[in-house]
Amino acid sequence: MLFPYELNNSYYATVRDFGDEFLEFSRRFDFRDDEEALEALCIGVYWYLYGTTALDLNSNIHQVLANLSQYRRAFPEDKQFIDELRGKLLTKFLFKPFQKNDEKLTPENLELLINFLEATGDYVDQIPHFRNFTCNLEDCLTLTKWFCKNSHRYLGEYTSNLNEYLESNANNHLMEEDVIFYHGHELEYHLNMLGAEIMNRIFRNDFEKRPRKAIILPGCMNANSKKCRAKEDRLGDVCTLCNPKCNVYKIVKQYPELEVYIVSHESTAFKGARREDMDELGIIGITCVLNLISGGWKSSNMSIPPQCVLLEHVACKSHWLDEDIYGSIDMDALKSKIRI
Ligand code: SF4
Repeated sequence: MLFPYELNNSYYATVRDFGDEFLEFSRRFDFRDDEEALEALCIGVYWYLYGTTALDLNSNIHQVLANLSQYRRAFPEDKQFIDELRGKLLTKFLFKPFQKNDEKLTPENLELLINFLEATGDYVDQIPHFRNFTCNLEDCLTLTKWFCKNSHRYLGEYTSNLNEYLESNANNHLMEEDVIFYHGHELEYHLNMLGAEIMNRIFRNDFEKRPRKAIILPGCMNANSKKCRAKEDRLGDVCTLCNPKCNVYKIVKQYPELEVYIVSHESTAFKGARREDMDELGIIGITCVLNLISGGWKSSNMSIPPQCVLLEHVACKSHWLDEDIYGSIDMDALKSKIRI
């Protein structure tokens, strides 16, 4: 089976080395902290990948798509109708082949880039970081140049099938709301891998101090989602231990001192969070690569410090595969995040 990315035993050591080299390079600039260096890199990479389309985006189309995306989050019961409409507009106006972008990144152009990201609906939790960004925009481009030169050397091994995967599925998800997400460029995979590594470092101390810890699992990790007997709870579905072969069962049994929730879609994560959760909780989020940065900032924007562990490959048919398969993770990587 062909996956857009696939991890192996060397992944966590390799991304740690890449994280070290990135942070060392970022010390040449005047970033306030490592989170600002990550914000700068995200802005630069998105400008490189999407700048040309962002400069072309009609302001009315931006407004319509941004409103639809907001409406979709407020009224999930209308998902089907809204997603159909968004899929058509996104494919017609935003889905363009990658075109190298040589335009200067000015404050006005950053606004246009943010409009593009807002229109896709995929970067909601990242956008506040870009709106508040005050460093030199030239630095974003210098960091990005460095990243483009080095990311393949470290992380190319884990995305070596991506081009073949995308070529053999070139018409998949056209006219669907995840069209931009599904056809993501290799650099965006590498950005999320490095971003997760940097976030794990940034939020580690705060995470360790939290009195409650929760593991947030994606729906693809349960053994048979149709027969799953998990019960709905405030922060997600809670496993009732119905099947010893299930990956969720194994994690719940192995870490009885932790809360474990299954969250089937990133957009519903933390919907029921209360003040006490924001004060007490630290989470270990498990997700596939393209959700890592958004998921990490979604959690930290709510004052819940995150740590993340990656699914070893994609597993669900809602975005990636013809059939659902079982998601799996490196259990040692999970253990190392839980160790305090
Ligand atoms: S063991 Fe838990 S997560 Fe797995 S199928 Fe049963 S209730 Fe669902």
